[in-house]
Amino acid sequence: METKKLRASGGCLCGGIRFEIYQPLRPVVVCHCKQCRQTAGYLNGFTVCLPENLILTREETLTWYESSAEAKRGFCNKCGSSIFWTYKAGGNMGIAPGSLDEPTNLRTAMHIYTEFAGDYYELNDDLPKRPGQRHDDDILEPG
Ligand SMILES: [Zn+2]
Ligand SMILES: [Zn+2]
Repeated sequence: METKKLRASGGCLCGGIRFEIYQPLRPVVVCHCKQCRQTAGYLNGFTVCLPENLILTREETLTWYESSAEAKRGFCNKCGSSIFWTYKAGGNMGIAPGSLDEPTNLRTAMHIYTEFAGDYYELNDDLPKRPGQRHDDDILEPG
């Protein structure tokens, strides 16, 4: 049987949520949708993994909020850290990179939902900008 290698770990600010990831993580996308900005407070972003490669080692304070008809967000009900995003029907698990233990060795690859960007910042780097791109897409390279 193949033994999966631990690639990353993380958790919330108070430690009530801790997790381990057993696959290489996707580069980070920064999401400008209103729900991400509102739940995170400024901007949010996600890396992703397959749900079966995410092991929750502590989840006492993990609460899921159904943020739309299709999606839900996992956060800590004690310290407020916003960590997970996924479709209720399944698919990739989005993980806020700020929750990861460092070094993450990740890079930010693109901006998504840029048509909903807030008016309190500028979007002026050279990264690709994809209006409407999903949080959990595997394919992120431009083309
Ligand atoms: Zn917490
Ligand atoms: Zn978003």
